[in-house]
Amino acid sequence: MQEKLQRINDTIRLSNPGGVTMPTCQNCNRTWTWKQTFKKSFTLGSAIICPYCGANQYVTTRTRKISSMITTITIAVIMLMNVLFGPSLLFFVALIAATPTYLGIYPYLVELTNQEEPLW
Ligand SMILES: [Zn+2]
Repeated sequence: MQEKLQRINDTIRLSNPGGVTMPTCQNCNRTWTWKQTFKKSFTLGSAIICPYCGANQYVTTRTRKISSMITTITIAVIMLMNVLFGPSLLFFVALIAATPTYLGIYPYLVELTNQEEPLW
């Protein structure tokens, strides 16, 4: 029984490479839900207020780098496709389809820190 549980744990860990988890507040250590993170991601300014303890949290530089990298790669691929195959509505459709996908995975990329980090 113990062994079986261990195996299930390992499977979960392996299917979760690089620690793709929801962000955790660095002040109260509580994990934010997808919905909370998603909503808080659209607040103006760099500080995100923890819904549990009210502390200011900041998105890490790593998160910002990854998210800007994804945006750049997506745009670059679409531009390249347009250059190679000529302008096509299909690529705009792909871009529109990619946006909600990106927004859907964004909360999983978010890492929080107590101190605001410089962008680069
Ligand atoms: Zn908190």
